[in-house]
Amino acid sequence: MSAALPIQTLPQLQDSFACYREREPEPDKVIATYIWIDATGQNLRCKSRVLDSKPKKVEDYPDWNFDGSSTGQSSGHNSDCWLKPCAVFRDPFRRDPNVLVLCEVYQHDWTPDAHNKRHSCKKAMDAVKDQVPWFGIEQEYTLVDQSGFPHLWPQGGFPGPQGPYYCGVGYTKVNGRQIVESHLSACLYAGVKICGTNAEVMPSQWEYQVGPCVGIEMGDHLWMARFIMDQISEDQAVVVSLDPKPIPGDWNGAGCHTNYSTLPMREEGGIKYIEEAIEKLSKRHDAHIAAYDPSGGEDNKRRLTGLHETARIDQFSSGVANRGASIRIPRHCSAEGKGYLEDRRPASNMDPYVVTEIIVRTTLLNEK
Ligand code: ADP
Ligand code: MN
Ligand code: MN
Ligand code: MN
Repeated sequence: MSAALPIQTLPQLQDSFACYREREPEPDKVIATYIWIDATGQNLRCKSRVLDSKPKKVEDYPDWNFDGSSTGQSSGHNSDCWLKPCAVFRDPFRRDPNVLVLCEVYQHDWTPDAHNKRHSCKKAMDAVKDQVPWFGIEQEYTLVDQSGFPHLWPQGGFPGPQGPYYCGVGYTKVNGRQIVESHLSACLYAGVKICGTNAEVMPSQWEYQVGPCVGIEMGDHLWMARFIMDQISEDQAVVVSLDPKPIPGDWNGAGCHTNYSTLPMREEGGIKYIEEAIEKLSKRHDAHIAAYDPSGGEDNKRRLTGLHETARIDQFSSGVANRGASIRIPRHCSAEGKGYLEDRRPASNMDPYVVTEIIVRTTLLNEK
């Protein structure tokens, strides 16, 4: 797996990527980019270090630290926070043997940072291991300029009404495909379990899917996919917005549909377990809404209106093939009597550790 894959790039991108690609690997050195979630619970930070050899497993990567007073994660007089490596990916920018290292953040006394949601997620996933929970997340996002206006929308105006853009092709139908393609190639190189992409209903809005992932892997792979997208956007003068409703009015918002199954759901007659899970989810709607964006439901309120393929934020609903429901059972799962369910409520800026944790706590650990 050491041959360099071509990464499709925009013309502007080629120069900056070439400096990575054409560089000879330093003999006996490995550059590790340590990556963490900051105090917004949404933005990522990173810094690089040069190692003398490549550690064999994630546990062998050294703990590191950063200045938490510069990221809102600690006070100035006790500013060091710990970075604990938790997942390693190939670096698609600097290429092999260099690596991207996702980290958990701990305070100086090794208590988990407020935005280290992986810590408790991992505990929940360990407790339900025998159920082999699978997740697949559909990350919707919007390419916007510095002012938050969608990338390549007409100056001082709006594109024509929604209709021709979803899965569209052609000039005036889609914007930014090369960014999408660069991201897909880079994720595949890295080892992120990306499984598809499509243009969305609103122009300049896109989706990629990551999954199926087992347990804690879902959060790790989605955060790494987000990191790779952010780094690609740097050279494009394009911002990747995870705002759940970037443009008010008759324009679709952006979500993170979360597809979920357990081993019994995937086996013959599994629909029974899917229905049981939906019943439990129906009783904890408010707790889930509070966990499905970083603001406890405020951000998602603008999106979950009951219009634009969403269900209302204050009502739980479910149905086969129903894209206006909180939970949808895909048509093919209903027909086969097994498979998975789709929770359509999570917002595009949700934390996948939080969302996957509450789903298993409600459906498998019976928390009320
Ligand atoms: P939609 O029709 O809602 O747009 P997508 O094709 O975009 O669906 O996404 C489907 C997602 O479901 C993918 O992320 C995929 O990995 C995930 N998925 C498929 N099978 C399962 C399963 N058995 N359990 C959990 N997730 C699954
Ligand atoms: Mn989709
Ligand atoms: Mn979608
Ligand atoms: Mn979906």
